[in-house]
Amino acid sequence: MVKRACKDCKRVVESTTCPVCKTNNTTTNFQGVVVIFDHRSEVAQKLGITAPGKYAIRV
Ligand SMILES: [Zn+2]
Repeated sequence: MVKRACKDCKRVVESTTCPVCKTNNTTTNFQGVVVIFDHRSEVAQKLGITAPGKYAIRV
């Protein structure tokens, strides 16, 4: 399965539906992946991420 990224929360998913947002607003056209272990970290805050997981840097 092709990796996709959710346009709403930036989470990298393996289906056309984002399990978090429950929308089909995903795209294969994204750049870079960052894995967030601590959502309080500087990187997570810069990207507006509020939960640990795998995220696209640019959607
Ligand atoms: Zn989402």
